[in-house]
Amino acid sequence: MIEVTVRVYGSLNDFLPAHRRHVTWPHVVEAHPSVKDLIESLGVPHPEIDLILVNGMSVPFDYAVRSADRIVVFPQFMVFDVRTLSRVRPPALEMIRFVADVHLGKLARHLRLIGLDTDYRADADDAALAELAHREGRILLTRDQALLKRRTVAHGYFIRETHPHRQLVEVLRRFGPLDLRPFSRCLRCNGVLRDVRKSAVDSTLLPRTRQHYHDFQACSGCGRVYWKGSHWKRLKHAIDAAQEEAERRAI
Ligand SMILES: [Zn+2]
Repeated sequence: MIEVTVRVYGSLNDFLPAHRRHVTWPHVVEAHPSVKDLIESLGVPHPEIDLILVNGMSVPFDYAVRSADRIVVFPQFMVFDVRTLSRVRPPALEMIRFVADVHLGKLARHLRLIGLDTDYRADADDAALAELAHREGRILLTRDQALLKRRTVAHGYFIRETHPHRQLVEVLRRFGPLDLRPFSRCLRCNGVLRDVRKSAVDSTLLPRTRQHYHDFQACSGCGRVYWKGSHWKRLKHAIDAAQEEAERRAI
């Protein structure tokens, strides 16, 4: 057994029990675990970590912990300059794309609504989600800490909020500013929407829709037809509110 001290900063405290938040505490571990295993055993999933200092030096995830080490763990976006330090986080993705776990169906719909590429499958198991995130370079969004701890997950984020609208604001704050194109994706399948002539979709429309609406889009994936119907204004209002809230709280 060896004894070390641990201190966790910022939003990473969300994963700790109350008595360990925002304090340095002595911690006893068996043998010499990797610093990644030690930190994950405390509850903090590795994709949430940006930087680990041991005795003031930046270390990689596979650093073998030694007796009396002083371990300090930082999330991304702490307010100080870490550009000269070697961070454990993999390089940023060129494109922000998401995969949402099976419990985040409503959030996935909200993200598609504002035009963010979001994969969601109601029947996907944890292994499939982790594999998909890895293969397609998607950020895994989940409220399951064990899923984020899977080795293959490089980019992931633990959603703190429970209400879908609050979750949307949380994602916009965490990953913003983002290039948002509301009403450009299919809510059902994530496909890209394209403008279509009314005559091309006429046979699929109900008489009232045919009478009152003239601009239509169709999903390039599943063919579903969209128009700016009565609920469009309500959705537009919800999107605008979420964006404004995200920007306000980010200041
Ligand atoms: Zn579709």
